[in-house]
Amino acid sequence: MAYSRFYNSHIYIYPHVAGYIECAGCWLNKDKSGMSIFPKGVEIYTDDQLIAHLDQHAKAGHSMPEGLLDEILRDPERYGILEQ
Ligand SMILES: [Zn+2]
Repeated sequence: MAYSRFYNSHIYIYPHVAGYIECAGCWLNKDKSGMSIFPKGVEIYTDDQLIAHLDQHAKAGHSMPEGLLDEILRDPERYGILEQ
């Protein structure tokens, strides 16, 4: 389940099954030449990295859903499914 998808924001971020949060096709990686249509994704492993990453998006003027960071931080399984 993605936290944010491209239809309502500029970022598409979701918990990857491999145990990290992926900012897919991250606009911060957009090729300045415009040659690359699909920017590379970014793998996020810690909350500090997550906060810094969303901050970079905000500074770049990318739109994202209200409360996105809080929503992600509230998810106990954001870095993978917890063991039962
Ligand atoms: Zn990103």
